[in-house]
Amino acid sequence: MIDSSIIAIDGFASTGKSTLAKMLAKHYNYGYVDSGAMYRGITYAALQNHWITSDGLDEAKLFEGLKSLNLNFEPLTNSLLLNDINISKEIRTLEVSNNVSKIATLPVVRDFLVKQQREMGKRKKIVMDGRDIGTVVFPDASHKFFFTAPPEVRAKRRWEELKLSDPTVDFNSVLENLIQRDAMDSQRKVAPLKIAENAIEIDVSDLSVAEVFALLLKKIES
Ligand code: C5P
Repeated sequence: MIDSSIIAIDGFASTGKSTLAKMLAKHYNYGYVDSGAMYRGITYAALQNHWITSDGLDEAKLFEGLKSLNLNFEPLTNSLLLNDINISKEIRTLEVSNNVSKIATLPVVRDFLVKQQREMGKRKKIVMDGRDIGTVVFPDASHKFFFTAPPEVRAKRRWEELKLSDPTVDFNSVLENLIQRDAMDSQRKVAPLKIAENAIEIDVSDLSVAEVFALLLKKIES
């Protein structure tokens, strides 16, 4: 059954999914859910609690630790709260970015988050962005989009954003991180990043935010 209460935006890292998802949510008065922030939240907790160390990931500890993690979005600001503490800034560091795709390959983590994402979809009409929203989380969503752009274009965007909070951040590290994440996200066994059967693919390289927004509205309303 087609579910018209969900708009799904998937695609590669730093293609502007969150910006556009937020704009659509505001336009239609839907809730907005950044599913990537949830994977980042678990990764942040794993780093803080030493479930990930230089020796690798302690899956048993992570599995146990998940039970103590309560992730929520603060409704007005969309800030991510981990056990009631705002971690919105902390989840955007390169350290979290460098570890998140490893954490996101784990079925136990995906099950934990997909359940919560589906619950969010039951409570309210939502726009959700991520990697598997149209394929796994909400395969019945009536509107599905898939954003792409070459890695260099995306790394430049991301680098410019990150430079605002850390002027020393190096372009090549950002590019390297995007390439590695895309590879891990696309090649993983569970819920790999891929275009959903009935999704509309949009190459955002040469489009402004306003142009992508206009295109999304046109597709949704046609
Ligand atoms: O969206 P963002 O780039 O912040 O996502 C961070 C990472 O979280 C992705 O690179 C991916 O490994 C993981 N992710 C995922 N499934 C989603 C959303 C994000 O595996 N639905």
